[in-house]
Amino acid sequence: MTFIALLLPGAFAGTAAADPARVTRLQLGLNAGLTRLVVEASGPVEAELSAQPDGLGLSLSLTDLRWAAPPAQPNAAGLVAALGLPVQNGGRTDIAIDLIEPAVVERAFRLEPQNGPLGPSGHRLVIDLRPADPQAYAAAFTAPVALPLPTTVDIAPPPAHGADRKYTIVLDPGHGGQDPGAISASGRHEKDITLAVALAVANRLRATGRYHVILTRDRDRFVRLNDRVALARQHEAALFLSIHADSLRGDRATSGATVYTRADAATDLEAEALALRENRADQLADSAADREVDDVVSILLDLASRDTARLSGRFAGLLTASMSDSIALRRNAMRAANFRVLSAPDVPSALLELGYLSNPGDEALLFSESGRSRLAAAAVAAIDRYFGVAP
Ligand code: ZN
Repeated sequence: MTFIALLLPGAFAGTAAADPARVTRLQLGLNAGLTRLVVEASGPVEAELSAQPDGLGLSLSLTDLRWAAPPAQPNAAGLVAALGLPVQNGGRTDIAIDLIEPAVVERAFRLEPQNGPLGPSGHRLVIDLRPADPQAYAAAFTAPVALPLPTTVDIAPPPAHGADRKYTIVLDPGHGGQDPGAISASGRHEKDITLAVALAVANRLRATGRYHVILTRDRDRFVRLNDRVALARQHEAALFLSIHADSLRGDRATSGATVYTRADAATDLEAEALALRENRADQLADSAADREVDDVVSILLDLASRDTARLSGRFAGLLTASMSDSIALRRNAMRAANFRVLSAPDVPSALLELGYLSNPGDEALLFSESGRSRLAAAAVAAIDRYFGVAP
């Protein structure tokens, strides 16, 4: 620890100094169609942005920054209806940002002090907001967002690599073989619907010429969850989409699609129970050597997984929005839980529950050619949008 402290004299000065950095100016304006908020201070600005617990708005929490004499509050601009008065909160300063409509951070970066006509500027943190649909807004702020963002383009997926510039996508039809998955009231199996939809999505993706598509299974066979994850990692997939359909015992009313991402803590009890059911698939395997791996996740991968989580959230938002054109969505259609099949730390991934086999309407839709075709088209539209290649 001493070694680290010696390397960071600035950290010492910061805590020892009686005069911490102060915010000197707030600016709000429009820049190339984005709403831009600039925080200027006497030292480098770090912050966290989170959703306000009630109402539509964000809370900007400036780390280790105090508020100087009350500067002028900027006028409303763009997506921002009003900025709250800064509130000193221990070493932090909190500013409420009331929004006119849901918004997410397009980019957030620092500018070093520069000399200008009025003398040197302070350190600046620039935050650009763009409008978003409610689901994307909810997904973006499931946890506080640290600013500045690591790079200015970090929520765009990396460019396609390889000679042919195609993205590799792994589609994962849930269950298979001795594991039927959920069973409908009329006795039909989840494993059949997940395979049929995955094949339909694969055909449409391949037809675009933009993607390499790999299926974790292309027929009725059992595949362990770890092997599904390993396949995506081995191929360095740009995206992993696991396809399922749910069923609720004794409940014929609940219907609609849900999109899940992975989180240690589930968003709700139903999501938690679902993850437990889906994770149970591996118990049907001839056990024995099941204990292997799982702890390959190094610190480096942990770092990677932060970006992976952001990208997964972004894709889940696009998929939810796209599905809503084809099938009714569950209330709170974007959820998260600890799904083992979504555990690759370096592959953005989501799990789509197409609907409920326990609901007659959903069952009819999922077992019809036209219903599956519509669902597949919606998934492909979301994938195209995610990679920024939507026509
Ligand atoms: Zn399933």
